[in-house]
Amino acid sequence: MNKLIYHFGPWNNEGNATMKDILGGKGANLAEMSNLGLPIPPGFTIATTMCAHYYSNGSKLTADFEKQLLAAIKELEQNTGKIFGSVTNPLLVSVRSGAKISMPGMMDTILNLGINDEIADALAKITNNPRFAYDNYRRFIEIYGSVVLEIPSYVFEGIYDNYKINHNISNDSETSPEILKLIINDYKKLVHKFTGQELETDLNQQLKKAIEAVLKSWMSSRAIHYRKINNINKQDVLGTAVNVQSMVFGNKGNNSATGVIFTRSPANGEKKIFGEFLVNAQGEDVVSGIRTPNPILANDKKDGTSMQELMPKNYEELLLICAKLEGHYGDMQDIEFTIEEGSLYILQTRNAKRSAMAAVKIAVDMVNEGILTKEEALLRIDPESLNQLLHTGIDYSTKPEIIASGLAASPGAATGIVVFSPYDAEELSHHHKVILVRNDTSPEDIKGMHVAKGIITARGGMTSHAAVVARGMGRPCVCGVKGLTVNEKDKYFTTSDGQKIKQGDIITLDGSTGKIIVGMVKLIEPQFSPEFETILQWADSIKRLQIRANAETAIDAKMAIKFGAVGIGLCRTEHMFFDANKIPLVREMIIAQDYEHRMKAIDKLKPLQTADFKELFSILGTMPFNIRLLDPPLHEFLPTLEQDKENLAKILEVPKSVIDHRLHVLHETNPMLGHRGCRLGISYPEIYNMQVEAILQAMWEVYSKQAIRSNLELMIPLISDFRELEIIKNMIIKTINELEEKYSHKFNIKIGTMIELPRAAITADKIAPLVDYFSFGTNDLTQTTFGISRDDTGSFLGDYMEQKIFTHDPFVSIDQEAVGFLVNTAIKKGKAANDALTFGVCGEHAGDPESIDFFHNAGLDYVSCSPFRVPIARVAAARSKIRSSLYSRS
Ligand code: PEP
Ligand code: MG
Repeated sequence: MNKLIYHFGPWNNEGNATMKDILGGKGANLAEMSNLGLPIPPGFTIATTMCAHYYSNGSKLTADFEKQLLAAIKELEQNTGKIFGSVTNPLLVSVRSGAKISMPGMMDTILNLGINDEIADALAKITNNPRFAYDNYRRFIEIYGSVVLEIPSYVFEGIYDNYKINHNISNDSETSPEILKLIINDYKKLVHKFTGQELETDLNQQLKKAIEAVLKSWMSSRAIHYRKINNINKQDVLGTAVNVQSMVFGNKGNNSATGVIFTRSPANGEKKIFGEFLVNAQGEDVVSGIRTPNPILANDKKDGTSMQELMPKNYEELLLICAKLEGHYGDMQDIEFTIEEGSLYILQTRNAKRSAMAAVKIAVDMVNEGILTKEEALLRIDPESLNQLLHTGIDYSTKPEIIASGLAASPGAATGIVVFSPYDAEELSHHHKVILVRNDTSPEDIKGMHVAKGIITARGGMTSHAAVVARGMGRPCVCGVKGLTVNEKDKYFTTSDGQKIKQGDIITLDGSTGKIIVGMVKLIEPQFSPEFETILQWADSIKRLQIRANAETAIDAKMAIKFGAVGIGLCRTEHMFFDANKIPLVREMIIAQDYEHRMKAIDKLKPLQTADFKELFSILGTMPFNIRLLDPPLHEFLPTLEQDKENLAKILEVPKSVIDHRLHVLHETNPMLGHRGCRLGISYPEIYNMQVEAILQAMWEVYSKQAIRSNLELMIPLISDFRELEIIKNMIIKTINELEEKYSHKFNIKIGTMIELPRAAITADKIAPLVDYFSFGTNDLTQTTFGISRDDTGSFLGDYMEQKIFTHDPFVSIDQEAVGFLVNTAIKKGKAANDALTFGVCGEHAGDPESIDFFHNAGLDYVSCSPFRVPIARVAAARSKIRSSLYSRS
């Protein structure tokens, strides 16, 4: 018989923290905490392997499992001294999911299972606390009804809310047993109406159905979506485990409570516990955001509502447990606890999800505290999450109109139109930036939260579903907004001073301060914390890859340097032509019907190009500056509107028919594969010549006025054959020689080429002797390897991901199998033909952590990404080096 069930608790503890594969995170940690002697209510974990058995057995529990389940319940009865189904001493259990990788807020939990009419009445008598007994029964029907019977939870909530309104109940814990009984009756009628059957009274059936519901929640669309957006692969996790645990009750009266505590701040990483709790409540009340909880630490106001003030003995005990668990796991913990009539129990611990700001601070603090090495600290940081720290904040000096304020649940600022449902969020996000506003969120909102730029909830605290999920996704989020009334049905909210905001109105939220602002506001650049600077310095001291940036404006170049770029790896000169004062000249140059007309435009463009290059050379100093000669897909420059065509005709002093004719001649069916890159230089050498002259003149002026000896890299795009390169290179060298003679000055210049077509990669041995470096243009290389237009993937990429043809977008993360093969081939052949050759990459993949790992292992010298990705690339490159050293050692 396959062992499918493992016990945990003080009497029989069969697991430990290393068994996450089989017990899931929650089960392994419950067993580990039992080993540490912490107060854990006993129970058992159904192994993750059962999840696979369940699905391969046609979504049915196996007979073998049912036998083990009966035996496990028997053992739990012996250990707790309570009996499942007893009317004198009933055992109630929780049934909770727990995969290997924690998926907070994503899967299902059933509490208070093991109850029916008879047991509820018995419980009322035994405990002499009918409110407690019927509250448990009410909660059980609600949660069982929604999770197992799939009745929408809002229908139950609607019934409860009506009673609360009609009987003036402001706090759930004030609901009397009589009213609870009426609610239970209504709930049972609801179950009958929805399912056509009575509520299940057979407790073994309840248990089996609850276990099945948890197993099913593993394949729910929201769980699948969560795994997809968090890149959790099937091979990394078998399925969910199911934890069946004896209930302890936080809703037994005013000396009972339930809460969540983080051992450090999950928002900013400060070394100070942070937590929330509710007296006379059950765990789900805190995390679901149904009631706004009280703080664990006494706050400045000392209003007597904190756990520290209300339950000082349990508070002290909890602090000791926090220290013990953090020390034991060597990481910040997120702990769920319950106090039943003065006794503290720990229900769960896990490595806490945290904002990027907190992750960075905690990693640095833990190195300083001697808990982690620098390398371990870097491996703790998800480079992609650093994006949050690079996001903008709000410039309050402009005195924006703040209409409400709540908890600063997840940092960053966002502006967009207000939507009130996850469906509207998805729908409208195609054309707008949306801000999702809800009373509170639940797993049904996940997709909407993902597409939203920011999230606001009227209810809930820092540990609410919205706060935890938004932090994980890196979305700015404000929770628990005082005085905010959200009408999700009629799609508007009102603030405490009566301001009404409707769907479609623009608002801004600041997840770092909790402020909500009407309209659009001025945003400010992010400030690096000292800890972030430390992490980046550690990354620089470890990484092998150089990080450069793609930039062609002074603003971007300065930003790139500020973010730590050590040079420009790609200056797309065609992007310098998009300015309003240059575009007519560029059009004139392209439309020109002969050499004379073209030269007229070129002569006008040259001083503008020179001025731009001068500015960039002086910003860069002696850092390498890789300028790519013109590579314009022509269609991006040509006028399409009749008005623009008429304007161009006026500027060129020709009839519009001439323009129409030239446009007809220049029309291309596939401009991305047309007359672009070096092909333009072959047809119109005067264009490339003008650019080389402008670049060298700028270099000369910067040298003669500022004594800067610039390091120019001159790059030729879209080569497919060494002969193209030979012709253009000879032309460039001739111009360089002439100018060096003219200025009597020797410039530092390297000549390189992009490798962005498969033919160039395959014939790299013929290309390599002609150049000093290769720069991989992985955007075009991906486009031409797959034969997929880089601009037109939107219509089918979703289908490809869904049908698992692609596991990721190949334009985001490099396809290592084929595009990577071409990169490796070009490096191998290139090196063999020219051992001084150096290598970089400047396609979008250069800023993607997974691709950076590939480029590190391929032996590239640098990656060049957009300025905002530079810090991410620095950390990713260090992590790649650390990982590759770890593997090479083992
Ligand atoms: C590339 O193709 O990867 C590249 C960097 O060039 P562009 O994106 O300008 O075509
Ligand atoms: Mg390209």
